[in-house]
Amino acid sequence: MALSFTVLGCSGSYSAPGIACTGYLLESTGAKVWLDAGPGTLSNLQRHCGLADLDAVVITHQHIDHWTDLALAFSALRHHVHRSPLPVYATAGTRSLACALLGKPDLAPALDWRLISSGHRTLIGDQQWRFSRTDHPVETLAPRVDSGGRSFAFSADTGAGWSFDRLGPGIHTALCEATFLEADRELGGPHLSAREAGAMASDAGVERLMLTHLAPGADAGAAVREASASFGQPVEAVQQHRTYEV
Ligand SMILES: [Zn+2]
Ligand SMILES: [Zn+2]
Repeated sequence: MALSFTVLGCSGSYSAPGIACTGYLLESTGAKVWLDAGPGTLSNLQRHCGLADLDAVVITHQHIDHWTDLALAFSALRHHVHRSPLPVYATAGTRSLACALLGKPDLAPALDWRLISSGHRTLIGDQQWRFSRTDHPVETLAPRVDSGGRSFAFSADTGAGWSFDRLGPGIHTALCEATFLEADRELGGPHLSAREAGAMASDAGVERLMLTHLAPGADAGAAVREASASFGQPVEAVQQHRTYEV
């Protein structure tokens, strides 16, 4: 297994019945990384990986559907799970909110916070990570992960003013938010419709497109049909607890 991701939650904007908010576990031969810690994902993470076995956490942005289980992880690491400080790669805004929520000026030694911004590159075990700022109201960083010759990219949250092409060519699997169907896009704010996700991924030349961050109650079949039409080949909507090879 060169590189895979397991879905810890994929509900867009708020939790759906039985489905947590955004979170993934990126696994390669040499690293396990928790990407986004939305509400419900700490519970789901532990079905696949213990906190003691994680190499790092990466948070794309400060919106609460993407990080608040990190506060629970902080408590677990402080009082229950014994390990070295857990590296957390996230924006300054996310760090400020986490400190405020936990009532602490800093989060050491449980968490080893490492601020990231657009263009940042870092190596986590055998995973090469890089980040690109998306089209979203707060500083939001879409990651690309390369390991063992495979490339994964995640849109984080974004509007149509950003593209996977900002993360370079040769993306094998792109995981893209598709919060709405095109017909509902006026509800939407700074997010992509399924049609926009497919068109953007096609223009960027990604090999395989997978949809996530569908709003609770969304018609996943309709989103898949809409995105497949604009992408030009079949796409899939990810499912919680499934593991996908990149
Ligand atoms: Zn979101
Ligand atoms: Zn957001």
